[in-house]
Amino acid sequence: MLYLIELVHSIQKYYMEVIGMKKETQCVHSGTYRDNATRGINTPIFTSSSFEYLDRTECLYPRYFNTPNQNAVVKKLCALEGAEDAVLFSSGMAAISTTILAFAGMGDHVVMLDDLYGGTHAFATDEFQRVGIEYTFTATDADSVREALKENTKAVVIESPTNPLLKVIDIRRVAEFAKESDVVTIIDNTFATPINQNPIKMGIDIVVHSGTKYLGGHSDICCGFAVTTEEKAERIRALARHLGGSLNAITCYLLERSLKTLAIRVQRQTENAGRIADFLDKHPAVRCVNYPGLPGSGSHSIAGSQMEGFGAMLSFDLDETKAKAARFVRQLRLIKPAVSLGGIETTICSPAVTSHAKISEAERKRIGITDSLLRLSVGIEQVEDLIADLQEALDQEEE
Ligand SMILES: *Cc1c(COP(=O)(O)O)cnc(C)c1O
Repeated sequence: MLYLIELVHSIQKYYMEVIGMKKETQCVHSGTYRDNATRGINTPIFTSSSFEYLDRTECLYPRYFNTPNQNAVVKKLCALEGAEDAVLFSSGMAAISTTILAFAGMGDHVVMLDDLYGGTHAFATDEFQRVGIEYTFTATDADSVREALKENTKAVVIESPTNPLLKVIDIRRVAEFAKESDVVTIIDNTFATPINQNPIKMGIDIVVHSGTKYLGGHSDICCGFAVTTEEKAERIRALARHLGGSLNAITCYLLERSLKTLAIRVQRQTENAGRIADFLDKHPAVRCVNYPGLPGSGSHSIAGSQMEGFGAMLSFDLDETKAKAARFVRQLRLIKPAVSLGGIETTICSPAVTSHAKISEAERKRIGITDSLLRLSVGIEQVEDLIADLQEALDQEEE
């Protein structure tokens, strides 16, 4: 009888998590550990790194990526991305580097966009040659990626929208021709989040995330994910067991707590970003705004066909010098100059002096990252307050 009740319970749970629920509901409910000891409604924090083995066959161990707190967040993210399995890491870069190395080795070739996240770009240029992996950087469009494929290409690494110019690539097309050539596709979905974009449903093999950004969402934890099929996740886990990079139980719990509000946070952030992009677009002191949600943006139609919302990252150019951009940033009272992104608070940064400072000035110019470009990570504040802050600082620029 008890067995039957448990069976019905797990079927109901499967139905809810995999088939029946919308994202807001999945955020709250998917993956929660059923606490039979207390019937508490939250996942308890299991801090053990050692488990008795006599009466059980499965070995739980943090670096084996299989503890209850790790499993709970993994299930939640799988539900949100529409995927079978995922590996949770202690940072976004741990997820990205382990995933790439799991599918490319000595003598293999990897195609990457030239405006990938700086850390991913640097991972290739600093380390690939030493381990015998060839690579080609290409422009952010599907045709360029296709042209870069070679006989020995094993993986394609893309990002959409990109940082900091918010370029968008046709995800379905990349997935399609990569599949024909038997090449593994990896997309960094950090900027879009699973709320606004689900690449696996468009044919991409592996989604990676820096959970440090929107998934954590409160600028206080560092973590990452690789989300994919059971088979590919097992390959990634096999390498991850050697490299390490697992997440501790307490941070897992903080992440699980954060993910419960992911949908409402990102929806509000996306709405605010749309309003701010409109405002900046109309302001005479702003030369251009990069945001796929603007109807005049070159990426608007393709973004509209593959994103549920246009996201909460945007960048804009004051068409002035580095010094003037810095002065503008100092005049802001509410919006904080800070690196990283995706928190509930709105932050601004100058890519030329932060994320892209290591890239030469000539290369920055070639990609289109000017000294006066500013990147905004829009938070959940009341948008009128944010616009007033920007307005005041821009009006002073005009004088
Ligand atoms: C921050 C970031 C990363 C790296 O993640 P960490 O958690 O800092 O290791 C990767 N990709 C994108 C798009 C990011 O913004």
